[in-house]
Amino acid sequence: MMIHERESASLFHTYKRLPLEILRGEGMYLFAKDGKRYLDMFSGLAVNALGYRHPRIIAAIREQADRYIHLSNYYLQEPQIRLAELLAGASGFGRVFFANSGTETVEGAIKLARKWGSGRQKTDIVSFSNAFHGRTMGALSLMDKARYRDGFGPFLPNMRLAEFNSAAALRKQVTPATAAVILECIQGEGGIVPVSQEFAAEVETLRRTYGFLLIADEIQSGIGRTGKFLAFEHFGLRPDIVLLAKPIGGGLPLGAILGGPAVGDVFQPGMHGTTFGGNPVACAAGIAVIEEIQNAGLIAHAAAMGKLLLDGLENLRYRYPDLVKEARGYGLMAGLQLSREGEKVTEAMRDRGILINCTNTTVLRFLPPLIVTPEQIAETLDALNEVLRTN
Ligand code: PLP
Repeated sequence: MMIHERESASLFHTYKRLPLEILRGEGMYLFAKDGKRYLDMFSGLAVNALGYRHPRIIAAIREQADRYIHLSNYYLQEPQIRLAELLAGASGFGRVFFANSGTETVEGAIKLARKWGSGRQKTDIVSFSNAFHGRTMGALSLMDKARYRDGFGPFLPNMRLAEFNSAAALRKQVTPATAAVILECIQGEGGIVPVSQEFAAEVETLRRTYGFLLIADEIQSGIGRTGKFLAFEHFGLRPDIVLLAKPIGGGLPLGAILGGPAVGDVFQPGMHGTTFGGNPVACAAGIAVIEEIQNAGLIAHAAAMGKLLLDGLENLRYRYPDLVKEARGYGLMAGLQLSREGEKVTEAMRDRGILINCTNTTVLRFLPPLIVTPEQIAETLDALNEVLRTN
């Protein structure tokens, strides 16, 4: 049997795989069984911030695996504490809870908000149209898209939905019973759609009036990708809770809930927990990721490379006005809104040895590793120009 037949026969059919079997990765490149080398411009969907086979990550994993791979949360563990300290230093958030994935941090944040609200008669959580927060039931309860939700209900009660970027819609949903508002400052799966500055200002105004918690889902946008450590910094927001995952474990499963002063003492022993969350090997890899991003100046680099990318995408919009509706993004989280489906474009790019992603059907999404060079961005833009010109 061929590998795609074995896959189909043995795994649940949850993923639509590309016709590529990857043998290994190195830096910005993936090497496939077809003998070709591919420039990876979406980095395992924003996970591989330092590219593939980064020597610091490998060394950290090896060293920690040689000490202990797992203990239990009964014991004090240096890697967890050190990573929490690094995250606090970079973000100003003083409390961290480690989970295994993005969606688990969303679940934890729902519990944190509910517990915080329980003595305050605050039960409701407001989320936005077109959001993506994960695949568990709590996360799905915060989302509106039929393709993620159909057939999986009933969902959690007291969840209210407002149209994204609509101050009027948000004003209608927020009440004294609102415990929290959860927001992706830049919607990722939703098509790289940022909040407007006006909308962000309205969120802060309503927060002052109603006293709810603001939860920033930075699972895709966080840890330097947008040219700031956290994307909310672009919009003058100051959340109480921040959710991180994807790049934080250097490719190992890890998520983190960061909490500010309003929620720092809400969880007491026994109220929340996980067997694997904060796994020491994943945390050791996470320490390497954060230190490397800081020492190598990768946040400023992401901002500079992002500008090259966005300028180039803007230029394509100018050249192909019928095909390209909008170029948008912050740093290395960029999208090109097409006027038609984007899958053919991603296929043609793949034929040219460049991997990009298409999300929300019509948006080409670029999430390259933060180590991407100006030459690799130019190569991507040149190839995209050719593909758009000839399609
Ligand atoms: N939130 C956002 C903004 C995401 O982009 C994702 C994943 O794509 C998630 C939550 C869910 O994370 P995970 O797939 O690790 O559960």
